[in-house]
Amino acid sequence: MADNLYARIVQAASDLDRNFILPPGRAPLSYGDAFAAAARFAHVLTRHGVGPGERVAVQVEKSPEGLFLYLACLRLGAIYLPLNSDYTAGELAYFASDAEPSVFVCSDRSREKIAGFFPDERILTLSDDGQSGTLMEEARAAPAEFSDAPMAMGDLAAILYTSGTTGRSKGAMLSHGNLFSNASSLKQAWRYSQSDVLLHALPIFHTHGLFVATNTTLLSSASMIFLPKFNLDAMFAGLPGATVMMGVPTFYTRLLSDARLNRDSTRSIRLFISGSAPLLAETHREWQQRTGHAILERYGMTETNMNTSNPYEAMRLPDSVGLPLPGVELRIAGEDGRPVAPGEIGMIEVRGPNVFSGYWRMPEKTASEFRPDGFFITGDLGTVNADGYVHIVGRGKDLIITGGFNVYPKEVENLIDALPGVEESAVVGLPHGDFGEGVTAFVVAKTGIKLTEDGIMAALSGQLAKFKLPKRVIILAQLPRNTMGKVQKNLMRDEYRGLYAPTS
Ligand code: AMP
Repeated sequence: MADNLYARIVQAASDLDRNFILPPGRAPLSYGDAFAAAARFAHVLTRHGVGPGERVAVQVEKSPEGLFLYLACLRLGAIYLPLNSDYTAGELAYFASDAEPSVFVCSDRSREKIAGFFPDERILTLSDDGQSGTLMEEARAAPAEFSDAPMAMGDLAAILYTSGTTGRSKGAMLSHGNLFSNASSLKQAWRYSQSDVLLHALPIFHTHGLFVATNTTLLSSASMIFLPKFNLDAMFAGLPGATVMMGVPTFYTRLLSDARLNRDSTRSIRLFISGSAPLLAETHREWQQRTGHAILERYGMTETNMNTSNPYEAMRLPDSVGLPLPGVELRIAGEDGRPVAPGEIGMIEVRGPNVFSGYWRMPEKTASEFRPDGFFITGDLGTVNADGYVHIVGRGKDLIITGGFNVYPKEVENLIDALPGVEESAVVGLPHGDFGEGVTAFVVAKTGIKLTEDGIMAALSGQLAKFKLPKRVIILAQLPRNTMGKVQKNLMRDEYRGLYAPTS
């Protein structure tokens, strides 16, 4: 029998009647329901010409059925390509031309938009609640069994696009083996078992909500309370029935701002996990004071899955992302790739079965981000303390993380620079009480032209996913530069660091 991620998921599911998804307002869905839905979707996709190794692009709102589509791709041996539901037509057209999917699954609302650049007969729709649309109509008539493709651990399971430093997104190619090995490590590290219930409020187009949360649950035959979105009332309604919560730091700061957060409302939880962006030590401490729980912080990225985690039993160190997971080799290196002296800051590099095989159709970009000995250069700067705990100190790649999502300044700067009347721009992340960082644009006008914040915001909206849009645009007479002519973003960050007053 073939060994792949789906085969391992089926092996783990000892009882098909166990609940897998608990969607508020709907009947629970069992493992048997999920596998049957995946079989039906796999038949529909096959009928639309999708075969093993082909890509299935998916831009839908979060629903159980949206997730079953991922399982359908695994069964079919197709490559799942989830897309942020915020992406605009221009961005989607790029992904379609780059990944060349065989089928595009979207909401009814965006069908027309997608038909502008993708053959209409290869578009399937799924409603936001997952209950209707052409995919569901066709699936209802399809058989609940499917003969799974004999994929191997080395075959690709998914491509996830990450923002590119040059403005172009790169598709990270992830194999069955990458995903399986990482989820198995996390299951062990976090003591996951079938009695766990995860409170799942993350999006499922990103590595965190899709792979970290879902694959770990699947390989444990556990269940999840599946919220369409993060919402304080829904979170407090879900907490008493859950044993684990995973979130981005923004979830934690928002929950802390609510008086309902206390020991009592978090009593049933055995583990709170944070990742995708830095969790402030202050948040960690405040959380512990209010709830009695020490948040477990972990670190990973789309390309590598999870690399480190604070320990389950030993000390969970605030301000640290913990220790390398079993099987993950991590080193702190200088520009030349040689390890720096213990305790010094350098680039975090990782190697292991969790690390992706490269960027889709970008062999040169891939080659430039791997060392000859197979270590991947993460772009994160960090240090390791005497006990082996990893600290992240900054982002070499100038990434902005807002509400857990990554924004590369260059992509936004390129669009602003192309607007009429703009001389140049610089985009930085400024501390933001709610989002962690707020995308902020500094813009210089061409001589004799008067630009306004509103005008620039209006010109940008519709061109970029909402999370990438600047929260403020500041018009400057000139950008600060050093003697080498380099823009000094640190000066702008310092001067404007109080721009977004803390909201909590
Ligand atoms: P993504 O590919 O969207 O998952 O983003 C990966 C990036 O998020 C990493 O390269 C880090 O810069 C950042 N990141 C993820 N987890 C953490 C964490 N616990 N602390 C600080 N930064 C993090």
